[in-house]
Amino acid sequence: MSLFIVSGPGGVGKGTIVNALAARDPQLWLSRSWTTRAQRAGESDSAYVFTDRASFEARIAAGGFLEWTDFLGNYYGTPTPEPVAGRDVVLEIEVDGAQQVKKLHPEAVLIFVLPPSRDEQERRLRGRGDPPSRVAERLQKALDEEPVGMSLANHVVVNDDLERTVGEMMQIIEHHRMLA
Ligand code: 5GP
Repeated sequence: MSLFIVSGPGGVGKGTIVNALAARDPQLWLSRSWTTRAQRAGESDSAYVFTDRASFEARIAAGGFLEWTDFLGNYYGTPTPEPVAGRDVVLEIEVDGAQQVKKLHPEAVLIFVLPPSRDEQERRLRGRGDPPSRVAERLQKALDEEPVGMSLANHVVVNDDLERTVGEMMQIIEHHRMLA
């Protein structure tokens, strides 16, 4: 079993990318995170396990997360994955979580995704329907995350075109499978 971490600043399209990867390659098992963030209008029920702070903290206390973090006032965490025979695990997480997983599992492959431009990133962040103050906060956070993530990454990919990006990431994944 290989462990792939897809990380990158907000507004880069990580969620769309990992869904496309999982649709293309049934060997990939996409972890579903827990969050205390409110579900957005139009957001799929399966995007996260949406939960409250008390339940999240109870799971932390029980040691039930591989990693978790406080991202702009909400908790996000990866439930400790149960390895499934023949499947590779994919985590789509922000930089602090990626750092934690790399410490625990140095062999994990971290693919860091960058936006094609700041304008495009800002457009994506605005397009989610978050209030302007929230968008500004997320943009600033994204700028802070980038250098940290780049220094940890095994691969850096620019999401300029979804099909091309997913193709490049599949090549990276295949390459690591051959080495594993
Ligand atoms: P959003 O609120 O936009 O869905 O997610 C905010 C950030 O949290 C994104 O960068 C997303 O990749 C990240 N994230 C989602 N799930 C997890 C998780 O389980 N752990 C960590 N550390 N970050 C996560």
